[in-house]
Amino acid sequence: MARAASPSKPVAKRATKKDSAKSAVKSEAGRDGRIVRSLAPWFAKNGRDLPWRTLPRQAFPSLVSELMLQQTQVSRVQEKFEPFLARFASVRALAEAPESDVMAAWSGLGYYRRARLLHACAKAIVRDHGGVIPGEIEKLEELPGIGRYTAGAIASIVFGERAAIVDGNVCRVLQRLEAKEGHAGNKKVADWAWKRAGQLVALTSRGEEVARFNEGLMELGATVCTPDGPKCGACPLRGECASYRQGLTDSIPAPKPRAKRTRVHHDVVIVHRRGRSGSIEYLLEQRPERGLWAGMWQPPASESPSESNLALGGLLTKIGLRNIGCDESGGPIESVFHTTHREVLFRAWSVRVPDAPSENGRRWVAKKALGGVGISNAHLQLIMRA
Ligand code: SF4
Repeated sequence: MARAASPSKPVAKRATKKDSAKSAVKSEAGRDGRIVRSLAPWFAKNGRDLPWRTLPRQAFPSLVSELMLQQTQVSRVQEKFEPFLARFASVRALAEAPESDVMAAWSGLGYYRRARLLHACAKAIVRDHGGVIPGEIEKLEELPGIGRYTAGAIASIVFGERAAIVDGNVCRVLQRLEAKEGHAGNKKVADWAWKRAGQLVALTSRGEEVARFNEGLMELGATVCTPDGPKCGACPLRGECASYRQGLTDSIPAPKPRAKRTRVHHDVVIVHRRGRSGSIEYLLEQRPERGLWAGMWQPPASESPSESNLALGGLLTKIGLRNIGCDESGGPIESVFHTTHREVLFRAWSVRVPDAPSENGRRWVAKKALGGVGISNAHLQLIMRA
């Protein structure tokens, strides 16, 4: 006969599904807390010394650096950041400057649309906020050039708001931490990353901690959890990283499918003369307000989606320089320039003229002043090769 359990002994209670769920949530929260608590101090100790990382953070330099850093390497931004701030010391100074000055100061950073948006942003801040950069994410997102990421970065890093940020670096770190497959360009992955970043940021405290945590995520992606060969041995999150544990750091995230580049043909005439001071001057025209190298200056050119068989004479006629009276010419020199979305096939002629009027909005620019007029690297290289 089975013995009855003694009434004085406590009976062990079996864990219910509810209990297991509770403990899973608890352990997830514990892990998230460890991630936050590891990253903020790691950044304070290991963050690179960059000119816009002042203590405390200043709103206008942060705004400028965030716009400059979009799709541009930190080393290139480091070269341009301080001269830009020396030229435009405040939101108001930037708002009141002519666009040509802003473009010239941006020269060398590429993606000139950002310079226009930054200029428009400064004007909107002066017009709508009395020249003071707002700290609220909703107000920041209403400004030209400021998307969800930049608004989150300024709100958290400058104003200490608990706002999430996700850029390519952050997305890669989060994907590896959670062994989440896919690539950052995929909307589902991006949505997941914003949600995950939000869960982590919610565990930070307002002020310095959220700023350090967000910058730590970006910095970790830029310097340790790099796209190729992440330096897991130096990573403060190694103990929490699912990809590290499962040996998936090389396969997560998946490579982004390559965008197909559109091929375009640009026939260019580099017209130059000896200026009054004896220095060489180039005839430049401004590109259209939209599209590739929008609003930048270039030597007179003709563009076509297909290859043109025009010789120099025909080209000069086509671009309104038939009567330019060149006394020496050379070319064409052929070269290829790649942008993110385009393959530009150049044919460039060099034409020396005794003098020529600068008609149709064209202007003469001295060789030594070329760097200051807002000209693309591609056209600068063409001129230097001519
Ligand atoms: S352990 Fe390696 S893969 Fe994981 S977050 Fe750190 S650097 Fe990235």
